[in-house]
Amino acid sequence: MESPKNNTAVNDGENTAPAHFIREMIRDDMRTGKWGYKVVTRFPPEPNGYLHIGHAKAICLSFGMAAEFGGVCHLRFDDTNPAKEEDEYIKSIKRDVRWLGFDWGEHLYFASDYFGKMHEYAVKLVEDGKAYVDDLTAEQIREYRGTLTEPGKESPFRNRPVDENLKLFAAMTRGEIAEGTCVLRAKIDMAHPNMNMRDPVMYRIMNVPHHRTGDTWKVYPMYDWAHGLEDSIEGITHSLCTLEFEDHRPLYNWFLEQLPDIHHSQQTEFARLNLNYTVMSKRKLLRLVQEKRVSGWDDPRMPTISGLRRRGYTPESIREFAERIGVAKRDSVVDIALLDFCLRDDLNKRCARVMAVLKPLKVVIENYPEDQVEELDAVNNPEDELMGTRKVPFSRVIYIEQDDFMENPPKKYYRLSPGKEVRLRYAYFITCTEVIKDSAGGIVELRCTYDPQTRGGAAPDGRSPKATIHWVSAQHAIGAEVRLYDSLFTKENPHDSPSGDFMENINPDSLKIIDGCKLEPSLRDAKAGDRYQFERLGYFCADDDSSPERLIFNRTVTLKDTWARMQKKI
Ligand code: ATP
Ligand code: MG
Repeated sequence: MESPKNNTAVNDGENTAPAHFIREMIRDDMRTGKWGYKVVTRFPPEPNGYLHIGHAKAICLSFGMAAEFGGVCHLRFDDTNPAKEEDEYIKSIKRDVRWLGFDWGEHLYFASDYFGKMHEYAVKLVEDGKAYVDDLTAEQIREYRGTLTEPGKESPFRNRPVDENLKLFAAMTRGEIAEGTCVLRAKIDMAHPNMNMRDPVMYRIMNVPHHRTGDTWKVYPMYDWAHGLEDSIEGITHSLCTLEFEDHRPLYNWFLEQLPDIHHSQQTEFARLNLNYTVMSKRKLLRLVQEKRVSGWDDPRMPTISGLRRRGYTPESIREFAERIGVAKRDSVVDIALLDFCLRDDLNKRCARVMAVLKPLKVVIENYPEDQVEELDAVNNPEDELMGTRKVPFSRVIYIEQDDFMENPPKKYYRLSPGKEVRLRYAYFITCTEVIKDSAGGIVELRCTYDPQTRGGAAPDGRSPKATIHWVSAQHAIGAEVRLYDSLFTKENPHDSPSGDFMENINPDSLKIIDGCKLEPSLRDAKAGDRYQFERLGYFCADDDSSPERLIFNRTVTLKDTWARMQKKI
């Protein structure tokens, strides 16, 4: 065992990250050398769906603690249930963990690799009289289990001789006994106050091929039996899991105590992440996918990591969010606004500003020379000088946002209206002189004049319009489709419906597709995943389906909209 002196991983003092009970526990263990000055954690997803933001919390915690204390974190696929698992999920999970910024190195494991070892341990328990083959049906087992207030009843097969148990378990294993006929159970205590301790099932017969072990196995281990052994075999020190496993911890420990020669990991539970306006269970997310309420697991409205990535979230913002929500022992619901806050904060620093017009209104600047084009200087990111400047073409016909014009403006509307002057970002001041309408009275075009003295956005006489709006030169603009998202559910708690079914609270307007948007030409080469701030409109990310021939942008998140807030107040 190493001594504390020559261990450099003990991290005391310099760490500024907020304290939480798991960080404190590990710090203590590193001080006392409880685990030989080592930290080995694991993230154990079941490959039966895509990872969601709740998993991100668990990933940031287990990988984060290992990194902080100089340890390692294993990625282990908990593939003990052959019926539900698919390779597509394994691929997506690996990609998502990597994308979040974590690396399991050589420590990639599959619970199914331990089936042999687990089976040997089970035989040992049978030999020691601590497990038996039970012929009760699943329903009888449930009945015999008792309730929270009443003790259970012992199965008539509980006291089978060891030899008979060994023979039967071997026959189960060879596939000689039909599915559902019998199970292997631990012999603990049918009157135990903790129901999990009432002779839990360890193995059931399943005639289902496994994605990795094929037809080798006819019996498959149950979670409680398997999980502690997986941790033990891998030498996990701190097995961090969510609170629903708290009541299983006595069983986790009991199994490991029956096998005194093997490593005994420490299970510690923390509160799972819940977010408002969304659902966060793979089963429910799968339903959204299967019932085609979203386009897939990576639909940008999904709380999945792949959905968030496609929408334009950054791994840094998700990690920051995970750090800010902290780690607690009590369940709570976190406001999605906190995630968006972390996101804006990060995007603000990293995204170039560009101009894009989502709902174009044509503006002809009548006193601007017909064939003239000027290249105006635009700042890429006022937060970061190093991001430099770019040239934006300006010409006689431009597009502005339909919302930036009102024919009969209310008080405090400072944008363009007849006779009013506004500043075009990086360009000139323009004044609206005429409104052109179609036969139905819809506004189709504005006529304006510009003041050549105001190039770059300032007037020699010092006058300054109250509003600055964005624009795109019509002849240089490139077309794009833009997808605007709202939350997938209309209620903070999606289960709040008469039937309790979250599907009833799906937001019918969660996706708005706008075609015919006009972008400044610098966006021509945007590649899937590229992120920008469209000035005044929010942060946008080129969608996975975007191509140079057909640009598609997702709105990741809005900027704070001062006009909307003002309107709400009125
Ligand atoms: P779900 O309920 O969404 O299906 P799960 O717990 O069944 O999730 P697993 O693949 O078993 O999914 O989870 C892998 C790990 O992620 C577990 O250790 C689990 O505790 C953790 N985890 C799952 N959901 C959350 C959450 N909302 N917050 C924090 N950790 C979570
Ligand atoms: Mg699970």
